Amino acid sequence: MTQIPPTLPLRALFDAQHNASRAQVEVPLALRRDRLGRLRALIDAHAAALAEAVQADFGVRSPQLTEAADLFVLRAGMAQLHDKLPRWMKPQRVATPLYLLPASGHIQRQPLGVVGVIGPWNYPLQLTFGPAAAALAAGNRVMLKPSELTPHTSALMARLVHEVFSADEFCVALGGPDVAQEFSKLPFDHLFFTGSTSVGRQVAAAAAANLTPTTLELGGKSPCVVDASCDLNDAAVKIAHGKLLNAGQTCIAPDYVLLPRGREAAFERAYAQAVARLFPTVSGNPDYAAIVSERHLARLAALLDEARAGGARVVDVAPPEGEAGSTRQMRPSLVFDPAPGSRLMDEEIFGPILPVLPYDTLDGAVAFINQRPRPLALYWFGSDRAACDRLLARTVSGGVTVNDTLMHVAHEGLPFGGVGESGWGSYHGEAGFLRFTQQKPVLVQSRWAMGQLFYPPYGARFQRVMGLLKRWL
Ligand code: NAD
Repeated sequence: MTQIPPTLPLRALFDAQHNASRAQVEVPLALRRDRLGRLRALIDAHAAALAEAVQADFGVRSPQLTEAADLFVLRAGMAQLHDKLPRWMKPQRVATPLYLLPASGHIQRQPLGVVGVIGPWNYPLQLTFGPAAAALAAGNRVMLKPSELTPHTSALMARLVHEVFSADEFCVALGGPDVAQEFSKLPFDHLFFTGSTSVGRQVAAAAAANLTPTTLELGGKSPCVVDASCDLNDAAVKIAHGKLLNAGQTCIAPDYVLLPRGREAAFERAYAQAVARLFPTVSGNPDYAAIVSERHLARLAALLDEARAGGARVVDVAPPEGEAGSTRQMRPSLVFDPAPGSRLMDEEIFGPILPVLPYDTLDGAVAFINQRPRPLALYWFGSDRAACDRLLARTVSGGVTVNDTLMHVAHEGLPFGGVGESGWGSYHGEAGFLRFTQQKPVLVQSRWAMGQLFYPPYGARFQRVMGLLKRWL
């Protein structure tokens, strides 16, 4: 099947894709669906092996979690792409202003060409194959660079992709930051990056040298605002689920909780109960993911140590148990009164640690959020709709879920992305299709056009026509 060997150097692979994309600018529906179908078949046929590879990379990461958070989300997105493609590919008619009639205007949707995708390790299938599927559906060629921190998964993805795609259609480049850096310097037609804010800056700088437009899906500190009107027990289960899914290694996990002052003890009880319900044990529990590496675990442990040293109250909220199973299964904790300016309150946590900060008024909570970089996600819990509306109107975030956590990412009708330091550009659903599409405006002139009324030499006729037009506008 493979005509261009995927083992070629990056630049040669890029050149092959680039040449192919310029030789075949028009990519018909059947070919797009065929590419999507091959990717879908690959995922279906090897779902178990892919989930096992993710498990091997994490140490502990349940295949069910991969099934739900990686594969289900991917399948849902790809099914929508397959169904909606005929409509999304069609030229879009637009109304023509009076002064240009009887000309007509439409927008022609075309592939961009070659799309680069750089992915992270935390949901290593969804966050790589997801954007790749949208780019293929939009008629592009795709080069994918998955994370070096999930070596089993990335190697399997590469092998499977190269079995069913020619490397000038879709190929996978393996390697660490050095390969990633070289990758981000390629003059793609679009570069789609998911990862940390600090690396996102480097990717944006590398892409800028080629004037390559980027989408940056980054991280940050997503607040979870608990309103006085909320049912604390219900909220605690949903917050614990959002926080502890994949042991907190989720870009849109609630990073910290803003809680009405005086509710701390009740929240602590409710959260501990919620954790016990979701994860009756931590060590050895196959449902509770391990932290991806010793380095990441050490960083999280240091965040907790520094918070304690700074006077915070750290509460281990997992049920008591014996010896640890995987040494990287970190016990969940709450942190009350973390020092402002501590690393815990400045850095994205990306682990099972949940700072809890009391607030006195909604305005105070809003000010706290707005003094910080704009978050990727924001959560609100309560029944007071007016309070919710006020908070949403006064804060800007990449996305929002009301009375739950994480779920906006699963709604294919909602664009997903960040804002400010949590990224730019969005995808999923039609937004994803358009992300990788050139929307080319086309004006078709009529032989009855009146444009010549505006040609020089400018004289009385020009003045009369302009006078008339001014009255219309
Ligand atoms: P990371 O930034 O360390 O790495 C992401 C990718 O970038 C990897 O493939 C890596 O090889 C590559 N890379 C490393 N150095 C590079 C360089 N100099 N130039 C180009 N590429 C380089 O991120 P990570 O640790 O894999 O993932 C965790 C981060 O990703 C968190 O901050 C999380 O919030 C964020 N994230 C965001 C989303 C989202 O959709 N917004 C989703 C998942 C994760």
